[in-house]
Amino acid sequence: MLHRADLLDVLRSAVPEDALHAGIEVREVHTDGTVVHAGGVSSADLVVGADGIRSITRRTVFPHAPAPRYAGYRTWRMIAPPRQVRSVETWGKGDRFGYAPLPDGRVYCYAVVRGPEGASGDIHALRRRFADWHDPIPALLDSVADDVLLGHDSYELPDLPSFVSGRVALLGDAAHAMTPNLGQGGCQALEDAVVLGAAGDLGAYDRARRPRAQMIVRRSRRVGVVAHWTSPVAVAARNTAMRLAPGSALIRSMEPVLNWTP
Ligand SMILES: Cc1cc2nc3c(=O)[nH]c(=O)nc-3n(C[C@H](O)[C@H](O)[C@H](O)COP(=O)(O)OP(=O)(O)OC[C@H]3O[C@@H](n4cnc5c(N)ncnc54)[C@H](O)[C@@H]3O)c2cc1C
Repeated sequence: MLHRADLLDVLRSAVPEDALHAGIEVREVHTDGTVVHAGGVSSADLVVGADGIRSITRRTVFPHAPAPRYAGYRTWRMIAPPRQVRSVETWGKGDRFGYAPLPDGRVYCYAVVRGPEGASGDIHALRRRFADWHDPIPALLDSVADDVLLGHDSYELPDLPSFVSGRVALLGDAAHAMTPNLGQGGCQALEDAVVLGAAGDLGAYDRARRPRAQMIVRRSRRVGVVAHWTSPVAVAARNTAMRLAPGSALIRSMEPVLNWTP
């Protein structure tokens, strides 16, 4: 488990300083490699649209692509002070709570709660909602400062027919935004980058990446559906099945996601 800020430091340290222009808004991208942005117009042999779930690259190059779909739950993320824990994710009746140690001993925590898009919330509401969950969940929530909560609705992007067009390639969430249930969105963006860097042509990138990324979008969606069941009968059946399944079977079921070589 790695803190996102640490990952960004690693990535940034590999980029020459004068290659990065922060704070320039991109407004339009064209398949001939022209990019209209706040600083003017540029043209390039290759434009990589790595501009996230609301990608302007996707919207201007693939104007008919459907918009991201709300999955029905919101994730609240926070970092708790150092404490001895192992990685755990607990499923309840419609809600979920997970935590995992960071390399420096602090604890990454997340609460996933069902609700309408854009629902508001704060740490006090989370403390109340998870007050009777198992140890150390209430204690973790109590130890978090009131103002360090990140709240994000969960979305997924319906399948695009291609990740490339002309001189433009989509990468990461711009191409295949997924629900966070498998912790794979950022991982898949990194895989895209490795493959794109090595691909002989953009068609090869699309053929290598689209089936895999879209398969993981579907798997992630299925996990979210089961994890957020609320019917007591369905939840009891799910919990029994999870208890009876050997750990090795669960790990094997993740093999198509985790067993990837460039
Ligand atoms: C709650 C939650 C938990 C998650 N947990 C995990 C996890 O455990 N592991 C994992 O691998 N992934 C996880 N993800 C997914 C991960 O955050 C994303 O998949 C990842 O950030 C995608 O990276 P990206 O570079 O494609 O897009 P982004 O990280 O969204 O970056 C896009 C960048 O483009 C910039 N940009 C956008 N539009 C413009 C414009 N017009 N002009 C200029 N710049 C622009 C943005 O400012 C931003 O810097 C999680 C996501 C959520 C919501």
